[in-house]
Amino acid sequence: MIPDMIDKALSYCEKNKKKFVGDLSKLVAIPSVSFPGFPAQNVVKSAKAVADLMKRSGLEHIQIIKFPGAHPYVYGDWLHAPGKPTLLLYAHHDVQPPGRTELWKSPPFKATERNGRLYGRGAADDKAGVVVHTSAVAAYLETAGKLPLNVKLIIEGEEESGSTSLEKFLKKYARKMQADAIVLTDTGNFDVGLPSITTTLRGLVALDMEVKSMDHPLHSGMWGGPIVDPVLAASKILASLTDEQGRIAIPGIYDDVRVSDEDRRKLEAMPYTEATLREQAALLPSARIVGGDRSILEKGWRQPSVSVNAIQASSKKDCANIINESVWCHVGIRTVPDMDMDRVADMLVDHLKTHAPWGVQVNISNISKAPWWKTEPSGPVFEAARRALAKGYGCEPVNMGCGGSIPFVGPFASVLGGAPALLIGVEDPYTNPHSENESLHLGDFQKAISSAVHLYEEIARTSAAGASRPKELAAA
Ligand SMILES: [Zn+2]
Repeated sequence: MIPDMIDKALSYCEKNKKKFVGDLSKLVAIPSVSFPGFPAQNVVKSAKAVADLMKRSGLEHIQIIKFPGAHPYVYGDWLHAPGKPTLLLYAHHDVQPPGRTELWKSPPFKATERNGRLYGRGAADDKAGVVVHTSAVAAYLETAGKLPLNVKLIIEGEEESGSTSLEKFLKKYARKMQADAIVLTDTGNFDVGLPSITTTLRGLVALDMEVKSMDHPLHSGMWGGPIVDPVLAASKILASLTDEQGRIAIPGIYDDVRVSDEDRRKLEAMPYTEATLREQAALLPSARIVGGDRSILEKGWRQPSVSVNAIQASSKKDCANIINESVWCHVGIRTVPDMDMDRVADMLVDHLKTHAPWGVQVNISNISKAPWWKTEPSGPVFEAARRALAKGYGCEPVNMGCGGSIPFVGPFASVLGGAPALLIGVEDPYTNPHSENESLHLGDFQKAISSAVHLYEEIARTSAAGASRPKELAAA
C-alpha cells in the first residue's frame, strides 16, 4: 500500500466534515418509515437517494434490490483489491415512525444541529450508519483512487419493521454477500466518545393480546357492576407478568439464562452507576430502579425483561362513560443467551391465558421471535477493529452488550459461514433512537468515519500477513 494513502484519506475526512453532515441531512429529509400504513414510496425514494450517494462515493455495481411486497435493499461494491479480504458493510435506510410530532423540538424530518448534535428521525438510527460507510469509502476512492481491500455495501430498507424479507433475500443473494467479515453499523457506544464493540444482543418475543368480554361497548352507568370490564381484566393479566421487584414472574422463565461468573464480574467492573442510568434515561427522581439485585448492566444486557409497549381501548379523544368491549395490548419479552425462543413464546402465551380473570376471552396473535446473539470477540478481525477504533476515537474501545434486538445479525453471520461480525455504531446513551428528538453526536460521527478508514487499512494489513493469515480470513 502507498504509505500515505491512509493519511490522505484521513485528511479528506477532515476537510469534508460538512459534506458528510450534508449527505446525512439529505437522507434524513426523506421520511422512509417502513411500518405498515406509512407511504412505501418514501422508502423507495430513500433507496434511490442511498444509491445516488453510493455512486457519488465511487462504488460500483449499484443495484436497488426489490422483492414483491418488500421495501428495497441497496447494494454497491468495490472489488479491485485482488488477494485482499472483502468486508460486507451493513446499515439500514428505513426509519421508525416519528412518534408524537408535538414532542419534537425541531421537525423530525429536517436535520437540525443543536449543541454539537444533529437532531432528526434516522439521524443516528441508521442513516448515520449509511453515511459512515459511504464517507470512508469515498475518502479512499477520492484520494488514492482505490481501497486497501474489497467492500460490499448492503443497505436494508425494512430493518425497523422486522427485516421481513431478509430470509428470502439471503437465500437468493448468499453468493453476492460472501465476505471475510461483516461490519454492522447500527449499534451504539457505551458513552459519548467511548468506542465500543457490541458482543451480545438480546432477542425479542412479542405478541398482540386482545382481551374481550362482549361485542360492543356498554354504558358504564347502566351496566357497570355485573358486567366484566376487559380493560381491568387485562390490567390484572399484565400485572401478573412481574413480581414486586419488577422481575418477570413467569415460572421457569429464568431457567436457561446463563451468565458466567467472569461475565458477571466484567459487567460489574464497567463504569456505570445508578446515577448514570437515571441521567441517561431522564428518570423521575421518585421512580425506583427495578428488576432485582443484579447490576444494572447485567439487567439490561444479560437478563430477560418484559414490556407492555402499547395498550388501546377507546382513546383520549373518544373517552366516554363506557365499558369497552375489548382491549388490545402489545407485549414483548427481551430474551438472552441461552433462552429458547419457542419455549419463551409458549410460556408467555400460556401465562397470559391462564391469568385471565372472570372468564374473559384472551386472543393472542402476531407472535414474532427475533433471536438473541452472542459472539466471542477474539481473533485478528476483532484485534484490527480495536486498533482502528483506538486510532479513530483516540481512546481504547470497550466490549459491550446491547439490550436491543437486531434480528438480522445472526442470519447474516451464518450466511457468511460464521465470519466475524463487527457491531460498531454511532449511537450513544443520549441518542433517543425510536423516540422523539433522536440525535447523533457529530463529534462521534466524524470519529466513526475515521475509525472506518482505519479499519479498512488494519484489516487489509492483517490479511497481508501471508502464511499467518487468520483462520476467518482464509475461509474466503
Ligand atoms: Zn437501527
